[in-house]
Amino acid sequence: MRKNIVAGNWKMNCTLPEGKKLASEVIHMVEDEVKNDAQVILIPPFIHLTGIHSLIGSSNKVLLGAQNCHQSQSGAFTGEVSAAMLVSSGATHVILGHSERREYFGETDELLAEKIKFTLENNLTPIFCCGEKLEVREANDHERLVSLQVEKALFNLSSEDIIKVVIAYEPVWAIGTGVTASAEQAQEMHAFIRNHIALKYDQEVAAEISILYGGSVKPENAKEIFSQPDVDGGLIGGASLKSRDFTNIVKAFD
Ligand code: PEP
Repeated sequence: MRKNIVAGNWKMNCTLPEGKKLASEVIHMVEDEVKNDAQVILIPPFIHLTGIHSLIGSSNKVLLGAQNCHQSQSGAFTGEVSAAMLVSSGATHVILGHSERREYFGETDELLAEKIKFTLENNLTPIFCCGEKLEVREANDHERLVSLQVEKALFNLSSEDIIKVVIAYEPVWAIGTGVTASAEQAQEMHAFIRNHIALKYDQEVAAEISILYGGSVKPENAKEIFSQPDVDGGLIGGASLKSRDFTNIVKAFD
């Protein structure tokens, strides 16, 4: 059974005291108020992982994720962080292929395929991001582009491994812009991705994979988007920096 997930990507925001305050507020609100069983994942910058992990403690609702990792176990890669380091800091998840990594750091689907294989070997769950830019959507080429992203990054995995991956469909035109895909647009793309996986693997494998929507999700639109049959939660940027907004997004599953 696939899980509902709400993951908060803090990006390069929050000093350590700010991050601890934000995380404490979210953890308490989630523990006190949330009735559903969605997994909540806090995704701070690398340097805050251990500090936030100690606040999460033994919470069974809130988990910890990282925003990226390197595709090697260790070695001379100054400034990089490995999957094993993330696991040893308490992370269970890692975002790979966020559009900002693709755009500003030149990450390709081929590189992401290596990273994904590697994170799975280290028992870290990748949250693989895909999604089209505005010009691709306007040219009505978004299905072709997203299917290629998914194929190149994931289709070398076995059935046993691909079901461990979380996918985040994040149309680039909706990230941080305040423009959200409509619930229908999100459902259409999520169903398309799931069907694409079913054609390569099978329906059972496709049905096991959580597909999150990302792009200007707010408390006001979360319920409608999350109620779509193929939308299993959200990857949240801006609204994850406000504890009340983020918790209310989690509560959209109540
Ligand atoms: C993101 O960066 O993954 C994201 C979805 O950001 P926002 O919610 O701010 O659009």
